[in-house]
Amino acid sequence: MNILKKIFGRQQPATVNQLLVVEGVEGVFYYHLRIPGNREALCGESRVMQTSIPVDAWGYKSHLHERYCPKCSQLAVQNETNR
Ligand SMILES: [Zn+2]
Repeated sequence: MNILKKIFGRQQPATVNQLLVVEGVEGVFYYHLRIPGNREALCGESRVMQTSIPVDAWGYKSHLHERYCPKCSQLAVQNETNR
């Protein structure tokens, strides 16, 4: 299941593929999106740690009950629709 693919349809814009999944430091398994080279996540959260999670896994929920920043999701979509 890929929420970003669901949002954008079959053709995922290149910029979304380039986004990095980062983990917030406050909550466990709470993820944000970050543009490569930026220190802050899309939503402005700066206390994030790098992960090796591919952006394709955004929205995937396992038994760990991962959570995904709704602001980052929204901003990723807006970045695309504003172009
Ligand atoms: Zn965020």
